[in-house]
Amino acid sequence: MLEAFGLWPGVVAIAADAEMYCVPCAKMLYGEEPIEAVVAGEPGYEQYTDHEGNPFTVVLRGSESLHTMHCGAVACRIPLCDEWCPCYLDPEQWNQYGRLPDGRKGEYDGVS
Ligand SMILES: [Zn+2]
Ligand SMILES: [Zn+2]
Repeated sequence: MLEAFGLWPGVVAIAADAEMYCVPCAKMLYGEEPIEAVVAGEPGYEQYTDHEGNPFTVVLRGSESLHTMHCGAVACRIPLCDEWCPCYLDPEQWNQYGRLPDGRKGEYDGVS
């Protein structure tokens, strides 16, 4: 299970440099101090930016933007959405149509 950090329901990823990273990778890339401040929402955390000069964005567990996403670090690539989430079964469904393959397949098949 992906580790979550900070406030409930937990920060599972950091969006930076047009990628999403799991928190341990974000710390490796950008340093412990900035990422910990961002995750904790500490006053002044906005001063920290990614390599393109944009502020970090935290992504909370259960966020829709996590669907089909993996950590952007090449050596990691951990799935950022919940393990049980069906989005990984058929990423196209989500990316193209914004809907999740939820197992109730009959809903999408057949009837047209
Ligand atoms: Zn990672
Ligand atoms: Zn998902």
